[in-house]
Amino acid sequence: MAGTLAKHTTLKRQLIVWFLLIACVPLIILSLVVNWHLEQRLMHQQEVQLYNLAKEKGRLVRQMIIDNQAQLTQFATLPSLTGLLTSNADSAHVALIDEYSRRIIGLNNFYNLLIVDKQGKVVFSVLHESDFGADLTQPEWKQTASGRAFDQVQHLMNNVMTSYSYYAPSRKNASFMATPVWDAQGAWLGVVMIQLKDDWLAPVSSGGVGTSETGEIILAQHDMSGKLVAVSPLRFRPATELAQPLDSSHSVIANIAITGQESFGDGVDYRNQPVLAGWVFIPSLEMALVVKQDLAEALESVTQVRWFALLFLLFVVLATAVFAYYLSLRFTRPLNAMTNHLRSLRQGMWHLRLPETTQTTTEGRQLAEGINHLAETIEEQVDRLQQQAVELEYQTETLARYNEDLEAAVAERTKELALLSVVDPMTGLYNRRYYAQEGAHFWKTVARNQQILMFALLDVDYFKLYNDTQGHQAGDTALTIIARCMQQACRRSGDLAFRMGGEEMAILAVVKDAEDACQMMDHLRMEIEASAIAHPASLVKPLLTVSIGIALFDACTCHGPTKPNLDGLYRLADGALYQAKAQGRNQVHLANEVLHC
Ligand code: GH3
Ligand code: MG
Ligand code: MG
Repeated sequence: MAGTLAKHTTLKRQLIVWFLLIACVPLIILSLVVNWHLEQRLMHQQEVQLYNLAKEKGRLVRQMIIDNQAQLTQFATLPSLTGLLTSNADSAHVALIDEYSRRIIGLNNFYNLLIVDKQGKVVFSVLHESDFGADLTQPEWKQTASGRAFDQVQHLMNNVMTSYSYYAPSRKNASFMATPVWDAQGAWLGVVMIQLKDDWLAPVSSGGVGTSETGEIILAQHDMSGKLVAVSPLRFRPATELAQPLDSSHSVIANIAITGQESFGDGVDYRNQPVLAGWVFIPSLEMALVVKQDLAEALESVTQVRWFALLFLLFVVLATAVFAYYLSLRFTRPLNAMTNHLRSLRQGMWHLRLPETTQTTTEGRQLAEGINHLAETIEEQVDRLQQQAVELEYQTETLARYNEDLEAAVAERTKELALLSVVDPMTGLYNRRYYAQEGAHFWKTVARNQQILMFALLDVDYFKLYNDTQGHQAGDTALTIIARCMQQACRRSGDLAFRMGGEEMAILAVVKDAEDACQMMDHLRMEIEASAIAHPASLVKPLLTVSIGIALFDACTCHGPTKPNLDGLYRLADGALYQAKAQGRNQVHLANEVLHC
């Protein structure tokens, strides 16, 4: 029983577990959903914000290009240029152009200004770097930024702008903005180009991304070898490594932006950091403009919410556990009281009652009431059973007493019956059956004790005559008197007198010797005679007399068990009796022969 109980968890534990499950699982799911939703919403908002910023920055770049091109176009219409490009320029023209050039460079923060004739020769340079005087159609110049600018203008006859690339004459990155120069008749004379500084885009890229700590604006384009490189300083990479390619993995945002798309989303940046970003493409520069922010920073507020939710969840778990514990106490206390009470009842204390005040619920009170009622019923039954047991015990004792009495009575009656079966009812002497039964026993006792056994056979003289003369009734009375005399003749406790049949009787007795036997029997004969029963018809004398024949078994020399010879003994006594009759009756005769072992 205890083993079975131990396998079950306690009510307290079950309550706590269920409470936690019911209270916390939905809460956890809810907070996860809310958290996810918040995160998604925040990410989307942030991405849209970054995209708007990117568009704004893109618009700024385009505006700068338009402004610069306007400056350049205006410069290209200078009349002095015609002279320079048609080889009609004098030194005053050149000085004028030089002055204009310097002013426009100063005003717009350009790096250099080149004038190229239609053969591709650089005929003017403000800074006089190594590209001054170069022929841009030559192979060594064709692939440079200035060479490409000249080539494009020559083909398009329109304003062009090259992407940034390393420009050897200046030993830094450079982009050229170029425009064709026409004379008054509309004939193409050459090209004016301005070399933009490598930090020309700094106003765009250096602007912070809101108040963000990880926000960054990346301007990137393919270099000559087709690798994607940043063209503005990177926040998380030293300026010296600017030419290092950005990761070409497709998930790097700049790689998406450079394909010409304008959008927003999440991905990783050149540091392999997860970021949120918005991006645009600036076609004239073939440049990607990405505004990005680290995902971790963008989601900081969500993270805070997450921590708050976790703390709140912890609080709820604790509160739930405490509440469940309190509830379990409320439930288990009354149950424990019941369990203890039932244990007492099991030990037989049926008089105990469970106080209903220990129960805090209606169901508990009803249960306690039920248990008390049950205990009351059982107590009554037990009392009744105990009373019945006492009564039953008394009845058993009485019955036992009756039984004892009955057994004693039966034994007595059995004894009487046994006696009746071996005693002659008229004379009170043992019958012949008892002689047959007891004679052998007597024989063995005598033989064991090495004594002398006497068997004397007695017969009433002329009894027929007595009956005939005195009546049968008188005969019976006479036989009774003779029998009493025989009983008196039995001296020892073990001597026995029998009625052998009719008026023939016998005595079994232990005697000292033959003389003792003869004396004993003669004494009996005389006692009978002395009874003076009148027998006038007797031929001996007018009194009732008897004749006795004696046979002896001398066991004085016996050793070990002997076989009783009652028939032999009877024959000898009968023979002696015959002799006594024959010799005149009213006498004792001893058999001539004595039996031995
Ligand atoms: P004897 O001296 O030779 O013995 O002569 P007897 O007459 O006694 O011999 P017998 O054997 O002829 O007779 C015995 C008689 O005893 C016969 C019978 O009527 C009588 N008798 C036997 N039993 C009883 C008895 O129970 N009651 C009475 N009244 N008489 C009995
Ligand atoms: Mg006889
Ligand atoms: Mg007789």
